[in-house]
Amino acid sequence: MLDVLVIGSGPAGLSAAVYAKRANLNVLVTEKVYFGTGQVAESNQVDNYLGLPGTNGYDLGEKFREHAVSLGVEFKDGEATEFAKEGDVWKVTFKNGEILETKTVIYAAGAVHRHLGVVGEEEFGGRGVSYCATCDGAFFKGKTTAVIGGGDTALDDALYLSDISEKVYLVHRRSEFRGSANTVEKLQAKENVEFVLEAKPAKITGEEKVAHLQLEDGRTLAVDGIFIAVGMNPMTDAVKGVLDLDQNGYIVADETGKTTAEGFFAAGDVRTKMLRQVVTAVSDGANAATSAEQYLKQ
Ligand code: NAP
Repeated sequence: MLDVLVIGSGPAGLSAAVYAKRANLNVLVTEKVYFGTGQVAESNQVDNYLGLPGTNGYDLGEKFREHAVSLGVEFKDGEATEFAKEGDVWKVTFKNGEILETKTVIYAAGAVHRHLGVVGEEEFGGRGVSYCATCDGAFFKGKTTAVIGGGDTALDDALYLSDISEKVYLVHRRSEFRGSANTVEKLQAKENVEFVLEAKPAKITGEEKVAHLQLEDGRTLAVDGIFIAVGMNPMTDAVKGVLDLDQNGYIVADETGKTTAEGFFAAGDVRTKMLRQVVTAVSDGANAATSAEQYLKQ
């Protein structure tokens, strides 16, 4: 019987595994993607992880994984699809029909950025197209950027970029923003921010890097970077009905990782939180493993 079953091998899951292993717990990490390290691997450069400026995201993920492996953490492929508690034991069913039994679960399955689905979006990923302004904004100092979306993330991203970029276009498909009116006012006061409303992106073009954003109505914006902020999808289908989710589908849990289900902890992007970054995921993993350890001692 496992003490801790970690679902997900991104920074939150790996950090949880390191803390659990160091606490002498019997821990196993399961991962949907073979030898994965989560979303961090997609980031061309992670420039805001303390002490490691300019690290390539893939390399950082590999380092996290090597750390867990060096302590003897074991990994297993498989997508967890069902969680059921019987007495004090969690029975976790995987896509291939296998069932694992564990005293606690640390669920760190992450969230995925919604994509626009326009031509050029995938091609220019990491070459001007980004889904994280706080991660990649600094690469666009003095340049022209476009933010796509009308929610709080897009508004916050535009505000953040307005202090870095020379010019920021905020491109939204409707005439009104979904996000906070207060942030809209702050943006209106910025001389280098231009709202491009009732505008649907059609195509991203360029040569080596992004050069243009073409809109459906025929307008073309000359840009160096495009930040897509059209929402996130938390990977929580498997836990629906098992514990409480918020209105956006994230697991309700504070920084201890405790959820509304006993012995089930959430860590990383999958839980309700303010800032979804590598540094907060790593810290979540440590907290969730510590909470699991305390739960097991009780
Ligand atoms: P969101 O609120 O779901 O907004 C997504 C935005 O993207 C919407 O404006 C939507 O347009 C647009 N969009 C979606 N699909 C699109 C497409 N295919 N093409 C063009 N535009 C598209 O997502 P979010 O901004 O990431 O925020 C998620 C949640 O976190 C929200 O509850 C938000 O309030 C919260 N949050 C809060 C803060 C804060 O308090 N500072 C910061 C970030 C996030 P429509 O408006 O037309 O639907």
